[in-house]
Amino acid sequence: MQWNPKKTFSMAELKRIYTKALDSNFEFINCADIYTKNNGYYIALRHDIDLSLIAAIEVAKLENELGIQATYCFMVQSNFYNLFSSEGRKALQIISSYGHNLALHHHTMSARNLQIDLKKVEKNVIIDFDVIDKYYPGKFEKIVSFHNPPKNLIGAEFDSFLSTYSPHFLKNNIKYLSDSNRYWREGDVIEWIQKAPDIHKYHILIHPELWFYKDGEMKDAMNDLVEHQISYTWGLLKQDDLNL
Ligand SMILES: [Zn+2]
Repeated sequence: MQWNPKKTFSMAELKRIYTKALDSNFEFINCADIYTKNNGYYIALRHDIDLSLIAAIEVAKLENELGIQATYCFMVQSNFYNLFSSEGRKALQIISSYGHNLALHHHTMSARNLQIDLKKVEKNVIIDFDVIDKYYPGKFEKIVSFHNPPKNLIGAEFDSFLSTYSPHFLKNNIKYLSDSNRYWREGDVIEWIQKAPDIHKYHILIHPELWFYKDGEMKDAMNDLVEHQISYTWGLLKQDDLNL
């Protein structure tokens, strides 16, 4: 995977991007509003939470300070965090208290280059919603972003929820930009924002852990994440009345 060596990934840089967008009169909208929003300058800001609730909270806090609203997509079956733990409950409470929207991030567990059974996908997403709605009734919007989506999920529509890869998000006049693996594949995000009024509708995916942890290559950020996780785990062990 390519890394863009000239780019900075830090909370200060994220703030600079948001500030540029606000100064250029962009409005940050909920992903669900992409249906109805036709005019004006807007950014449907989406966060897929792959690895870190701490990073999600910090990005949510920054956005709140700037008066920005975003859609946070969480995994129900994550290997890295638990939405039903005290940490998970607290994270959802804080992020929603800032006025952000909560949605699902679903991993189909299928390879990107394979065709996937869309009926099965819908069934599994409904199971995720059933679980999350039991613990957090009414908190999650029926919006789903897919983790590493298999190719036939791009452009697919579902009756039970709005996919962020449905045609509504892929319309020609909505530009999609993603920071995946610390690489803006489509080019510099600030340069894009400055293309207004020619291009003024964006769907931007930002992964909070790529901005909160140490700047540099992906490996630097992930090393930092692991370091944080070690001290967090020690903290939990100490709270658990173990004789250490
Ligand atoms: Zn993901």
